[in-house]
Amino acid sequence: MAYQLLDGKKISEEILTEIAAEVKIIAAKGGKIPHLAAILVGSDGASITYVNNKVKSCERVGFISTLITYDANITEEQLLAKVIEINNDSSIDGLIVQSPLPKHISESKVVQTILPEKDVDGFHPTNFGRLALGLPTYVSATPNGVMEMLKRYEIPTDGKHCVVIGRSNIVGSPMSILMSRNANPGNATVTLCHSRTKDLKYITLQADIIIIALGKAEFLTADMVKEGAVVIDVGITRMVDGTKKSGYRLLGDVKFDEVAEKCSYITPVPGGVGLTTIASLLSNTLKAAKKEVY
Ligand code: NAD
Repeated sequence: MAYQLLDGKKISEEILTEIAAEVKIIAAKGGKIPHLAAILVGSDGASITYVNNKVKSCERVGFISTLITYDANITEEQLLAKVIEINNDSSIDGLIVQSPLPKHISESKVVQTILPEKDVDGFHPTNFGRLALGLPTYVSATPNGVMEMLKRYEIPTDGKHCVVIGRSNIVGSPMSILMSRNANPGNATVTLCHSRTKDLKYITLQADIIIIALGKAEFLTADMVKEGAVVIDVGITRMVDGTKKSGYRLLGDVKFDEVAEKCSYITPVPGGVGLTTIASLLSNTLKAAKKEVY
């Protein structure tokens, strides 16, 4: 089957161009230029890459960005104090704290300390609760990026069977809520699968749309996918690869070459969901600066 690639670069470029145009208008009117602060703790290679990409994208759209870095041995108390300082700084609109954090720091405590108004990652219980209730909120960036992709490629979701694999708070769970909401995209019948799901293949074979976020390289194989399905691959696993300049290559949760042949639409890794995630984060920051949610 001839499949169409869901191009994350194209979608994210579209979104970033729209945001940049809006920032220009705000600047021309003398309005508040959006300002994103990012905190990075430790020296995890993937986290450094993610944060640097976020900061670079801020520059691209004309946002102000502030990157705050700490050694892995910073105490929880010190980190929470910084979060509170940023909460009280009216020049900063949005704050993200890059995960994972070192084991001695409670991610949940950090997230709950960020003011919901500045939680542009959409991880705070208030923002997650608002998402569940269909109220205006900052939808967490990765699920929002997937929804943008479905919307901009005009992929029908109404009445479709959508199987979400993975139930994390930042991807799988919000994804399942968004896809079942009475909206477009949305209105799908959703099955949420996880590590205790029995006979996953029986379920995925009935899916019109599969959204997979589990973090196991090339887990979804062609025998698990129905002909004509839409497959969205959120997974990112770094594999050591001496032939690459970076020393690694990225793999998704989908065995792309064999699965793509059966799909109507599929996202690549890299070049898929990851790029739309950053664009969504910047959308949320713009909303925060414009006080659209709170
Ligand atoms: P997580 O580890 O928190 O959750 C994984 C989920 O997979 C769990 O809910 C678990 O129940 C489920 N799972 C594990 N084994 C399973 C199995 N055999 N069958 C069915 N379900 C199973 O992961 P996460 O934070 O949601 O991230 C998932 C992947 O997405 C990772 O590779 C991560 O790097 C990637 N990710 C990508 C982006 C992006 O911007 N593209 C953003 C966030 C996460």
